[in-house]
Amino acid sequence: MEVEIPVVIVGAGPGGLATSACLNKHSISNIILEKDDCHASLWRKRAYDRLKLHLGKDFCNLPHMPFPSDFPTFVPRVDFLRYLDDYVTQMKICIQYNRYVNDASFDVTDGKWRVCVHDTTLNVNEIYVADYLIVATGENCDPYIPMINGLESFEGEYLHCSKYLNGRLWYDKNVLVVGSGNSGMEIAYDVSTWGANTSMVIRSPVHYLTKEMVYIGMSLLKYISIEKIDKLMVFMSKMVNGDMSKYGLVRPKDGPFAMKKKGGRTPTIDVGCVKQIKKGKVKVYPAISSIKKGKIIEFADGKRGQFDVIVFATGYRSSVQKWLKDYKELFNENGMPKARFPDHWKGENGIYCAGFSQNGLQGIHFDALKIANDISFTVNAMKHHDAEANAEIKLLDE
Ligand SMILES: Cc1cc2nc3c(=O)[nH]c(=O)nc-3n(C[C@H](O)[C@H](O)[C@H](O)COP(=O)(O)OP(=O)(O)OC[C@H]3O[C@@H](n4cnc5c(N)ncnc54)[C@H](O)[C@@H]3O)c2cc1C
Repeated sequence: MEVEIPVVIVGAGPGGLATSACLNKHSISNIILEKDDCHASLWRKRAYDRLKLHLGKDFCNLPHMPFPSDFPTFVPRVDFLRYLDDYVTQMKICIQYNRYVNDASFDVTDGKWRVCVHDTTLNVNEIYVADYLIVATGENCDPYIPMINGLESFEGEYLHCSKYLNGRLWYDKNVLVVGSGNSGMEIAYDVSTWGANTSMVIRSPVHYLTKEMVYIGMSLLKYISIEKIDKLMVFMSKMVNGDMSKYGLVRPKDGPFAMKKKGGRTPTIDVGCVKQIKKGKVKVYPAISSIKKGKIIEFADGKRGQFDVIVFATGYRSSVQKWLKDYKELFNENGMPKARFPDHWKGENGIYCAGFSQNGLQGIHFDALKIANDISFTVNAMKHHDAEANAEIKLLDE
C-alpha cells in the first residue's frame, strides 16, 4: 500500500501531537505514525505511579490549549494523560497506531520523503510518501543501562527505571538506585517510603532544588539575569538543606540555570529524597566499580554492599539513526540534532525535528509552532508561485 500525504510525523508523544495540532491550525494535512497502540506511550506505559510534571503547568502546556484552571500547578501523570487525550480530540489529530517506521529516506528524483512502515497489527508493510518529514520519536526513546563489570552475573533483579512503577514488592529488600537525575532521586525516595533499605549511586556533583524553587527561578528568567537567579537558587537550597557534602551530595561550581544554558546537566528536582538522605533512610555511594559474585557490589571508594535489586535511572538514548537513512541532514551519530537550540529544529529538503531541544515540554511547544509556521510559509509561497505561473500562461494563451 502506498499513501501520499503532505506531512508525515513519526511518533505520537507530546512532540508529535503538538506539531500535528499546529499544522491543523494552518489547515495542512498531516498524519502521525506511532509504533505503539496508544499516544504518549512514555507517560502511559513507561513512567512510575507517583510521577508529576516536574515543572509548573505554565511551562508545560502544548500550543493552543492551556491546562484546565482546576489542575494543580504540578500536574500528576494521570491528569497529564487526560489533558493529552483531550488535546488529541479537540485538535482533531489523526494518528495511525501500531505503525513501526523502520526506514525513511529522501528521494532526489521527485523531491519527496519515502517512509517505510510495518503495520504490526495486520503484519503488512506500507509506504507513505510526503513533502515534509517531522521526526518526533523523542530524546527518551531507548532505555540506557551502562556497561558494568559483572552485571551479567548479578544474582539479584535489575531493571531500567522505565519499568519501575512502585516499590510495593520490595519491603525490607536492599535496593540500589543508580543515577541522581529527576527519576533517580524520585525513585530512591519512593522506594524508601515502601520500606526498602535504600541506597543511591551519585557519581558527580549535582544541584538539587525543589519544584517550587525551580518554578520561582523560571518565572524570574524574564526579569533578572541567570547569574542572580542562580545565586538565589543556591542560597535557597542551602537554607533548606544545609551542607549536604558530608552525605555525598556535592554542588557543582556553576549555577543550576547557567549549567542548563551551557547544555550541561539539568538541576535535579528533589521531591523529598534529600530529607531521606539526611535521616539516613537513603545511603549515598559513589560510582560502581564492579559487581562481585552473587549480589555483592563494589564502589569506587572501595566500600561494598549486598543488594537484591538495582534500578538504573541512567537515562535514555535517541533512536533516530536506526531508522532514518538520511539522518546526517539534521542529526549526529547519537541521533541528536547537530545544531544546538534554538537552531536545531530544521534541516534541508523538508525535514524537521520536534522534541530534541533538551528543554522538555517547553522546548516542544517552541518546536511545534516554528515547524508549522515554516511549512505553512513554504506551502503558501509555492501556491502563490503556481498561481502566478498559471496567470502568466493564461496571458500568453490569450
Ligand atoms: C520520567 C520522565 C519525566 C519527565 N517529566 C517532564 C516534565 O515534568 N516536564 C517536561 O517539560 N519534560 C519532562 N520530561 C521530558 C519530556 O518532556 C518527555 O520525555 C516528553 O514525553 C517528550 O516528548 P516527545 O514527544 O519528544 O517524546 P516521547 O514522549 O518519547 O514520544 C515519542 C514517540 O515516538 C514513538 N516512536 C519511537 N520510535 C518510533 C518509530 N520508529 N516508529 C513509530 N513511532 C516511534 C514512541 O513510541 C513514542 O510514542 C520527562 C521525561 C521523562 C522520561
